[in-house]
Amino acid sequence: MGATTLSNNRAKTFVARLSGDYPDFKFRAGREEHWSPQSNTITFTLDQNEQQLCFGLLHELAHALLGHANYKGDFELIKLEAQAWELASTIGKKYSIEITEDHIQACLDTYRDWLHRRSTCPTCAMHVLQRDTTTYQCFNCQSIWQVSSGRFVRPYRKTIKIKHV
Ligand SMILES: [Zn+2]
Ligand SMILES: [Zn+2]
Repeated sequence: MGATTLSNNRAKTFVARLSGDYPDFKFRAGREEHWSPQSNTITFTLDQNEQQLCFGLLHELAHALLGHANYKGDFELIKLEAQAWELASTIGKKYSIEITEDHIQACLDTYRDWLHRRSTCPTCAMHVLQRDTTTYQCFNCQSIWQVSSGRFVRPYRKTIKIKHV
């Protein structure tokens, strides 16, 4: 589709601008948006609309600038996500990109839902606190369950509705 090509070109221009303004980081297209502190690389996905792509780039750039590398547990991950969105919207203003509060809350909600599922006891459905990055233990029935360690990847991106400008 013509529109997709056009928006991809504009998005690529934005990527070029960002990599010029932030030469410390590498930018590359990939399958999943994320920031890698190991390789100093911001990965973005072209398979989304221009606005989502720009928001995502700014968000990952914010993680990079904040030096986010690891965190102690799921709650901290959500806190770092919120920080990254806050900085992303500040940087966005320099490029006349306004990240709406709705978008930020929708993204954080996906993390909150994810956290809710992880922290629900599979035996008695009690909602409990995390024991360490990969383990939850129920204070009610003593069940213990493993979770994968969380990642700085926006889950369920496709369910987020964004108004097109
Ligand atoms: Zn339980
Ligand atoms: Zn993030």
